[in-house]
Amino acid sequence: MSQLFLCTLRDDPADAEVPSHKLLVRAGYIRRAAPGIYSWLPLGLRTLRKIEDHVRSEMDAIGAQEMLFPGLLPREPYQTTGRWDEYGDELFRLKDRKGADMLLGPTHEEMFTATVKDLYASYKDFPVTLYQIQTKYRDEARPRAGILRGREFVMKDSYSFDMSDEGLAESYAKHRTAYQRIFDGLGVDYVICQATSGAMGGSASEEFLAVSPTGEDTFVRSSDGEYAANVEAVVTPRPEPVDYSATPAAVKHETPVSETIETLVEWANGAGIQVEGRAVTAADTLKCMTVVVTRLDEEGNEVEELTGVLVPGDRALDEKRLEAALEPATFRLAEEEDFRKHPFLVKGYIGPEGLNRNGVPVLADPRIAEGSAWITGADEDQRHYVNLVNGRDFTVDGYVEAAEIKEGDRAPEGHGTLSLARGIELGHIFQLGRKYTEAFDVQILDENGKRSVPTMGSYGVGVSRLMAAIAEQRHDEKGLVWPKQIAPYQVHVAVANKDAAAVSAGDELVAALDAAGVEVLFDDRPKVSPGVKFKDAELLGMPFAVILGRAFAEGNVELRVRGGETSEVPYEGVVERLLELVRG
Ligand code: ATP
Ligand code: MG
Repeated sequence: MSQLFLCTLRDDPADAEVPSHKLLVRAGYIRRAAPGIYSWLPLGLRTLRKIEDHVRSEMDAIGAQEMLFPGLLPREPYQTTGRWDEYGDELFRLKDRKGADMLLGPTHEEMFTATVKDLYASYKDFPVTLYQIQTKYRDEARPRAGILRGREFVMKDSYSFDMSDEGLAESYAKHRTAYQRIFDGLGVDYVICQATSGAMGGSASEEFLAVSPTGEDTFVRSSDGEYAANVEAVVTPRPEPVDYSATPAAVKHETPVSETIETLVEWANGAGIQVEGRAVTAADTLKCMTVVVTRLDEEGNEVEELTGVLVPGDRALDEKRLEAALEPATFRLAEEEDFRKHPFLVKGYIGPEGLNRNGVPVLADPRIAEGSAWITGADEDQRHYVNLVNGRDFTVDGYVEAAEIKEGDRAPEGHGTLSLARGIELGHIFQLGRKYTEAFDVQILDENGKRSVPTMGSYGVGVSRLMAAIAEQRHDEKGLVWPKQIAPYQVHVAVANKDAAAVSAGDELVAALDAAGVEVLFDDRPKVSPGVKFKDAELLGMPFAVILGRAFAEGNVELRVRGGETSEVPYEGVVERLLELVRG
């Protein structure tokens, strides 16, 4: 440590909110270069490389072959698939000196697909799985928490190419197993969640989430432990249509000052309105939100469409769920400007009937069953309908997963109820299908000499994010607590005794461990106090530490298991003890 390029910091960096960010900066693993862009200092780089190697060995074990594409890429392949435009502001675009459009790769489906097309022509060449461990670039809207969400980050991305759907299912299953081994091998506490496939398209899709309160993803778990899903992927069971033959006709009521669901329910109960003989609750009312949906038309031009979104009044609109449901289209909530442009929108009193009348498409949460009756806005100031029936008094143009998921909601397929938790997305596997191979017109001759388009899987692990996620799960108030597989060094030796005998015993111990192939960090700094050395050892987080301190006079050293027990043991034999710990 007297030579190591390291300077530990006592104070948390001002911009850091989560423990991993604070600790990785304070312990001298990473250093900010720009928002969402970090430099890797010697200790951090060692850990990053170890995570890469761990991921690499599990990928190699399923027969995936490593290669490496450039990070700086031409526009054309991304134009072929439409992603040059669809990727939006997240894509780093630039021009070379001749004015040609270039980009910094955010993910590499295009390059892998084009290269397979380039080199392979016969079914005999398949299946093939390729991967790389590479730096990716995404101009994230909200870079966050250090390397947890960077604008430059390291990803392992792999791609499988199969001639049949069964082959794809097999490649997918292999990746699933490899990912379990990757995360199990590092002792990560994680959940495999059903996911939506997002902008990529495709079908089967799962995410590996590290359980952590600081995670940005919310996921659900069923009470029987059999089902887990990203909230964006939770599918609401569609209720049976309701027989409305006995439902009275819709009546428009005067409802003074009732712009909110709360005041509306208050009004209804004050006015003696009843639903099936009981008092009105928020769940009997219909919230009608107006959003502006933006889609790309065939020429790639953005088209905006005012759209109504209906959710039961006891639930909020979950913007992330709606975003996922509408992808690749995007949306924003209607603003003052939109209300001005569409005067039929009466704020606080918008309802589906008026939207129908004005030709505004209406999307509804699946709970809004056909034939169900609702209390909802009548599109006039201070007026609401009671008994407005879906399918009789208004029509729904489509159903959409837009309502929030609540603790205790029913889980699908009889898996009990749902509970909510937060996680960090570490990896994502999905069956992409033929979207990219079709875009590139990849034609492979099958056994019968006929042309056939291979099907793809796409699989990612956030390698640099994994380091931060492990730090989130494994730290205490004093510092990092690395698992030995990825700690920069397995053993930390500190001499905290000025005695010449202790100093030379330290040297000997380090030499012996070194000879046995153990990676040792040696705190040999001569003018640093024992207190500072102890603090640094805890902050840096090596799994095992040996302190040659006061007890060395009696021939003893302190053996500390980071995050575990401290014991005084004889110096003689400490190498063997350590070897057991490191190898065990
Ligand atoms: P997120 O929802 O967190 O933005 P994503 O769905 O965009 O992730 P993918 O495109 O599937 O992510 O990328 C594969 C993996 O790369 C993710 O599972 C995640 O671990 C990692 N990753 C994605 N974006 C970042 C980022 N900005 N910084 C660090 N790691 C990232
Ligand atoms: Mg993303």
